[in-house]
Amino acid sequence: MTSPVALRDLPSVDRLLRAPGAEAMANAFGRPLATEALRVTLDETRRRLREGSSDETIPPDHDLVSEARDWLEELLAPTLRPVINATGVIIHTNLGRAPLSDDAIAAVAAVAAGYSTLEYDTATGRRGSRAVHVESLLTRLTGAEAALVVNNNAAAVLLMLSVLGRDREVIISRGQLVEIGGGFRIPDVMAQSGARLVEVGTTNRTRLRDYAEAITPDTAAILIAHHSNYKIVGFAEEPEPAELAALARERGLRLLFDQGSGALRDVGPFGLTPETTVLDGLRAGCDVVAFSGDKLLGGPQAGILVGRGALIDLLKRHPLARAVRADKMALAALAATLTQYLTGRADDIPIWRMIARPLDDIAATAEAWAARLRDAGIAATTAPSESWVGGGSLPGESLPTRVVVVDPGPAGADALAARLRAAPTPVIGRIHDGRLLLDPRTVLPGEDLVGSVIGGR
Ligand SMILES: *Cc1c(COP(=O)(O)O)cnc(C)c1O
Repeated sequence: MTSPVALRDLPSVDRLLRAPGAEAMANAFGRPLATEALRVTLDETRRRLREGSSDETIPPDHDLVSEARDWLEELLAPTLRPVINATGVIIHTNLGRAPLSDDAIAAVAAVAAGYSTLEYDTATGRRGSRAVHVESLLTRLTGAEAALVVNNNAAAVLLMLSVLGRDREVIISRGQLVEIGGGFRIPDVMAQSGARLVEVGTTNRTRLRDYAEAITPDTAAILIAHHSNYKIVGFAEEPEPAELAALARERGLRLLFDQGSGALRDVGPFGLTPETTVLDGLRAGCDVVAFSGDKLLGGPQAGILVGRGALIDLLKRHPLARAVRADKMALAALAATLTQYLTGRADDIPIWRMIARPLDDIAATAEAWAARLRDAGIAATTAPSESWVGGGSLPGESLPTRVVVVDPGPAGADALAARLRAAPTPVIGRIHDGRLLLDPRTVLPGEDLVGSVIGGR
């Protein structure tokens, strides 16, 4: 297609750099990026003119500059940013898992801004160990002899198996060959660690005898992997950790437990089916227990290993431990969170506040929000529904809640959900039966859900 517009009349990058707004853009984004943005804009304009209809004209210079600025703003807009979680899934893996407590946030801010005692002992003026900041808190909380913190639980399991199972056999039930999500599969981690996987039993039933019969002179350990994100119901059986511990002791093996969720307290009192906590695992006789810092523990991303002193020492000295070590911000947040457990203030940790939040309180919030939405001309009601703990913990377990139900109008729920995701602070809800559900349980105090919905509709 030919254009009547003379492409040679397009301004040069140099001329645009002197146009109104260009200097402000160069100051804000730096000259190299500003120049690149102008070049991209000119290329795009040239393409439009070549392909476009005959009434296309060359835009004024200041329009080209502002187009370049839009391109830069989009290029540099942070992709990692806050959202309002109105899904009702408390430990939402895609939305960053556990929100930190105020204490944990303050501890992170304190060490992030300056220097710290990360590996410095102020008493001696010498090099210290980063392990000390959380080890005593963890041993006191769990009663374990020793503890070690690494980057995440996948790394903790990899380290545990690399050190205690390499070139030997590790026995695991076929009912526990789990995939946690994001491609973390127990069999793959075992292969990576150099441990040889020995599967016993069947998907639904594994007996103590199955483990006993699989033991050879090459066996190093028995691994229990927590069913974090699925349940085997019906005709199902697995030996208790204490039975496996007795077998392991008798045959000189280690019993390793990938507990996963980091449950340090019993969830029973919150109306959820109790699961094997970290303490249960240790009490039953597991030699090492591995778990996450940011699931039911409610702290930062971290992998925590607790257990026998001699074994934790071996893990600490392995080169992989250095490769997967925790950073100062995670250690600060974890220490603060663990202190909340130790001092009887675990209820202040956001995930526990959400889990414990009474239904009538949630319902009152839902009613108030629905009323404000109606005042703004948005058709909203409330309805009973369910929230989930999530995060690959407590599968199938839900908590009764009351949600705001937004009628999306003729455009439909998908379109409304997309608009709310595009809000300056995206609101993530749940679609059910063609309507958008917003669960107050997972919305944090101080988050302006109603304002974001009204702004984003
Ligand atoms: C979540 C989980 C993992 C992985 O932990 P990350 O902290 O995500 O690395 C491993 N094993 C089990 C049983 C889990 O639940």
